[in-house]
Amino acid sequence: MSECKYIRRISAYFDNEVPPDERRFLERHLGECHACAQELERLGALRSFLQAAKTPELPPETLRRLHRACALAPARGLVRLATRLTLAAAAVLAISFGWLWQTDVARPPGPGSDVLWQTMSATLEPEADAETSVESQVAMWVVDDLSLEARRD
Ligand SMILES: [Zn+2]
Repeated sequence: MSECKYIRRISAYFDNEVPPDERRFLERHLGECHACAQELERLGALRSFLQAAKTPELPPETLRRLHRACALAPARGLVRLATRLTLAAAAVLAISFGWLWQTDVARPPGPGSDVLWQTMSATLEPEADAETSVESQVAMWVVDDLSLEARRD
């Protein structure tokens, strides 16, 4: 089975996201190409299926949890910004230290000083990402909801 090279554009055509020239071309092509016509038919059937599907009703506790998660979202952006600023500050510190190291000002004397430098570099790693904890919190909520569903059955 050989696939038509235009079949990847049928989805964009279906979503009305192609420029007028391409739209006219694809309309002509759809009359000649069985594979693309089938793809268009498949997309239409999928849309109908999704529109007919019932929207699930969320339990009130799940809605409260979602609202709390939305309230946390702006704070999450702030944490991300703070993390980036901290990393930028760490980079400036490391570059400054490197420059001082080159000029022999800050280099400690004796062997084994490389170990100290490597230890200091490793401690510049950011601590556990707050974003991860929010995501794992959401995952915990989903698990809690699933377990509530299981207990009701
Ligand atoms: Zn085709």
